[in-house]
Amino acid sequence: MAMVSTVFINPFSQEAKELVKASGDLDRIMEEDARLLNIIEYTRGQRLDDDSRIPGSLWEFAIKRIEWYLEKKGYQRYQPGYYRFLFNPQIAEFDVITFYVLAQAIGAKFNPNSRESRIFMESEAEIVKERLLRIESRERERVISKILREMLDSETPHWTQLEKLLENRRIKLTELILKDGEVILDKSATGRTQQVINAIREKIIPALIVQETQEYLYKVHEMAAKIEPHPILTRLAEKIRERISREFFIPKKTGARTIKASKLDFDAFPPCIKNTIKGVRAGNRNDAIVLLLTGFLSYARLYPSVFKDRKPHKVSDFDPTLNITLNEILPMIYEAADNCEPPLFQDDPQEKLNITAKLGFGLHETPSLENEGETKWYTPMSCEKIKIHLPVVCKPDSLCEKIQNPLTYYNRKRWQKKRKNEGGDKDIPRGNTRR
Ligand code: SF4
Repeated sequence: MAMVSTVFINPFSQEAKELVKASGDLDRIMEEDARLLNIIEYTRGQRLDDDSRIPGSLWEFAIKRIEWYLEKKGYQRYQPGYYRFLFNPQIAEFDVITFYVLAQAIGAKFNPNSRESRIFMESEAEIVKERLLRIESRERERVISKILREMLDSETPHWTQLEKLLENRRIKLTELILKDGEVILDKSATGRTQQVINAIREKIIPALIVQETQEYLYKVHEMAAKIEPHPILTRLAEKIRERISREFFIPKKTGARTIKASKLDFDAFPPCIKNTIKGVRAGNRNDAIVLLLTGFLSYARLYPSVFKDRKPHKVSDFDPTLNITLNEILPMIYEAADNCEPPLFQDDPQEKLNITAKLGFGLHETPSLENEGETKWYTPMSCEKIKIHLPVVCKPDSLCEKIQNPLTYYNRKRWQKKRKNEGGDKDIPRGNTRR
């Protein structure tokens, strides 16, 4: 097997950076590249029966790189035959330029904690892992040694050099083998110890690359606040956002067993939520409104089946213009805040920012699309936590015995009501009783 360039695995090597510096200008990334097409065409196992699945330009390559990851994680539609080119070492030069184009587009347009940034980083980790796996084992060891020296200056770095990886939990200290403060990542051990070291060597490479990618995204993001990004990067970021949103968009299914988003049904709220809406006294006020009610109302209105699907969605997947959030959900939360004693925002206006943050829009007065992703959209508190932190609002009724989260109560109650109206009382969907 031919020697694999580390550029193929490590976009942060000196060689990779020089390659990128010498590459053409951004205006040309949409142009078809015969060399790229030629490599893809001659990649072993590559499916060529559908032109739309073959990237002819760096722009299309960038989108395919993300698409590969989304499809791989989505399982059903994943057809690896269309993505063989990603694992052909001859593509290294195009690949590394694409990596930087993507990182700059995503870094400039999205917050480094946004879903788009996270997916980009995860996709990079996955690409690196899979590429390493596909290299023949002796060659793999050579590539890993070289990358460790490129990124850590040595194969036995001092453990403090891995501080960021440990801090971000990309790797655990207990996984590492240490000697006099140095992490042993070379090939000097024998037997079982070397096997353990080999496993760490393979794991640490994607972790190091993702760590660097994250830092790079932060830098680009800071820079973009001062200098307007190239319009082609803005367009690419928009395309990536659309592609990712499509993956997370839930098609409206019909049929009795799907819990759909619909107008809020006050009557189906559990006792804890009804009590919170009536108003809570100082002491419990902040937690009840910010932690309990905000999560409950937003998910109940927009994504009631969150515990069943377990997909990390954001509010705009269900409410793309934020019309429902701003005109239905927030007014209810603010009204409940007003019912508190004393009214919550009167002596704690900061809590408005915390409510926005719990909806996933960072610490801002009101939610807006450009800030989405700065924080996570928090799911409603579990009954267990409510009983500990907010016992004053938890007044369980008989339905509460069977559930562990107020949102599950809400879904069940709505089903019961629906069944009753239809003349039956059975057939409550099991999938939604888990939480
Ligand atoms: S048991 Fe759960 S759903 Fe019922 S009132 Fe208490 S916290 Fe709310």
